[in-house]
Amino acid sequence: MELRLADRMAVLGTETAFEVLARARDLERAGKSVVHLEIGEPDFDTPEHIKEAAVKALRDGHTHYTPSAGMPEMREAVAEHVEATRKIPVDPTEVVITPGSKPIMFFSILALVNPGDEVICPDPGYPIYESVTRFAGGVPKPLVLREERGFRIDPAELRALVSPRTRLIVINTPHNPCGSTLTRDDLAAIAEVAQRVNCFVLADEIYWQIMYAGAHQSIISLPGMKDRTILLDGFSKAYAMTGWRLGFGVMPGALAARVAQLMVNSNSCAAAFTQIAGIAALRGPRGPIEAMVAEFRRRRDVIVNGLNAIDGMRCAMPTGAFYAFPNVRRIDEHSKRLADYLLNEAGVACLSGTAFGEHGQGYLRFSYANSVENISEALRRVREALKRYPAKVG
Ligand code: PMP
Repeated sequence: MELRLADRMAVLGTETAFEVLARARDLERAGKSVVHLEIGEPDFDTPEHIKEAAVKALRDGHTHYTPSAGMPEMREAVAEHVEATRKIPVDPTEVVITPGSKPIMFFSILALVNPGDEVICPDPGYPIYESVTRFAGGVPKPLVLREERGFRIDPAELRALVSPRTRLIVINTPHNPCGSTLTRDDLAAIAEVAQRVNCFVLADEIYWQIMYAGAHQSIISLPGMKDRTILLDGFSKAYAMTGWRLGFGVMPGALAARVAQLMVNSNSCAAAFTQIAGIAALRGPRGPIEAMVAEFRRRRDVIVNGLNAIDGMRCAMPTGAFYAFPNVRRIDEHSKRLADYLLNEAGVACLSGTAFGEHGQGYLRFSYANSVENISEALRRVREALKRYPAKVG
């Protein structure tokens, strides 16, 4: 039978990391060795006290539905955590708990964006913002992050891009894939634009605990911004809990109620025992996070120095997250061709910058959520394979 899909499926995008991972696994099944620097997930195990809390919750019978916006204790724990870390008052009714933080993107865009409305998305940037915007009938407006500005938003370009149709400005700090972080001045300039055009800001802060220089700055803390910010955060990165699927959003109560309604219509709720584990994560010791960040810093130095030592590559030092984003234009202007070559010929899985938008052309993304040993092996393989790389094909 012919598959007749709804029109909206034609504009839905994807996240290339999952595709490259599948191709790398196929190569491995065929007997090839691959170093995985494609997927954005910590290789660390979830800290023991969090796993213990989940096991206990299961034994205690937390195996049922919870309220769609989340368990009251969990919403309270998140409110308390965001109050303490972003220095703003938060009421539990302003918190929605979701399976992973991705649904916060999906639901806030579905809830706010009408057909024809514009959403400012960073480019390079996480591809899902743009994909969901199109799915909702909206128009993504790429805001270019330029290497010469340290991959930070240029307020002048933002001012030129907004219009009366701008509904949402998406920001992501620390940034995937660029590893850049926004300063308080950057955020103040973005806040001024959002207030002037009367739009929301979706602040994706999933990597905020993984910072190497200075303290994280959150736009929700700036005067007048709490009413127009959707803060997206979760447990995948800082607590090494990608497979648990647990995240949250903090937003004005009236919007939180409608996002909870989208939860009723889709997931019903996040799993009960993972929410209890989430409380343990938020209230538990910070030692495991600090150890993980220290290890990421060591890896960052190894990979960035290693990439910069390769002829034709230039890599900025990331200030947050766990991605290196080297400029490889002098080796090949066509990043996807180079990424494919490195996977097939060097056994190193990485992503083409174009997986993150048109302005990722000329860059590769390496996730350094892998051991120093594997990173060093990947660097060795890349160096060797590039000796045989066809001369620049233009
Ligand atoms: N935002 C960004 C920028 C990400 O890179 C990711 C995961 N790759 C997410 C959000 C979503 O993470 P999760 O749904 O696992 O919380």
